Formats: sequence, structure tokens, C-alpha cells
Amino acid sequence: MAVITQQQRLKPMSLEELNYQIYGCRKCRLWQGAKHGVPGEGPLNSKVMMVGQNPGEIEDETGKPFVGRAGKFLTKVLAENGIKREELFITNIVKHISPQNRKPFADEIAACVPYLTMQINVIKPKIIVLLGATAKETPRLEGIEYIEVIHPSAAMRFGKMRAKFQKQIAELAKRIATINT
Ligand code: URA
Repeated sequence: MAVITQQQRLKPMSLEELNYQIYGCRKCRLWQGAKHGVPGEGPLNSKVMMVGQNPGEIEDETGKPFVGRAGKFLTKVLAENGIKREELFITNIVKHISPQNRKPFADEIAACVPYLTMQINVIKPKIIVLLGATAKETPRLEGIEYIEVIHPSAAMRFGKMRAKFQKQIAELAKRIATINT
């Protein structure tokens, strides 16, 4: 059996290795009700990362983040503001679906957050957009700007929140334009 030394543990992992770990993760109870782990997706050199809560039903089916109703709404609002979804790295604070789509428990978030920290360390984005309240638990790393916005599924449902979300994404687009120049 291969022995993993402390040195090897500290070695930065590739996204592929991380994904492999996430697919097989058993660190909390959520894997039991899930079809797929959903690590997230996007280019390795993304300047912007988006973090949501955890995958929903369609995400669990497909293994891809934000591809259900909220994801389609998010992609549409991003596009309306000139932000190409495929240029962002999109993930969640928790990588498995939860029963009845409930908010992940604190111990589930704590078990899963190291994956997100490693993703941030590999991608090294300039901006991390936190989608909704649960994503605010994302670790704050030095040199990265964190921007909090409403979760797209709340924005989709409530008119006032939708208007605020659209404004927040318009502001985000302006901010992204400054880092891209
Ligand atoms: N909501 C989230 O927070 N994440 C997803 O991937 C889908 C819906």
C-alpha cells in the first residue's frame, strides 16, 4: 500500500485529482443520497469564481453545477451583462445534493470546505462571487476580492430580489472589465 507522506499531502493538487477525490468523498452523510458529486467547472485560469450553496436535482443528475432553473437564470443574467459563463469557474460550497434540497448543515459545510479552499488555491481567481447566504462561509484568502450577491434561485422567484440581483450582476460586469484591462 502506498504511504502518503506529509510532504505529499501538502503538494498542490490538480483539479483532476481534486475532482476524483470529490467524486469518491464520504466525509459527511450527503453522498448517500446523491447520484454524483459535483465538483464545479470552468477554465483553470478563470479570473472570476462563483460559489453557490450545493447542487440541486438536475446538477446531481448531470454532475454539472448550476444547470437547473436557477443555473439557466444565472447564465441568462450573466449573458445580458456581457459575462460569459464559460469563462468563469462555477462551483458550490458543498459538492453533493442534500435531502429535499435543505440547506447543508454546519458539519457538512465544514467537511466540504477544504475542497473549495484547494480549488481556490489552484485557480487563484481575482474575484470570488458568493451566491446567497450559505456561500458566505467560503474561506477568505488574502489578495482575493469577495463580492456577495443574492442567490439566483431567490432572485428568480421574487421581483424585488430579481431587480437587485440584476443590478448586482451589472456592477460585477463593470468590476470584471477593470481586471481584464
Ligand atoms: N443552486 C446552487 O446553489 N448550486 C447549484 O449548483 C444549483 C443550484
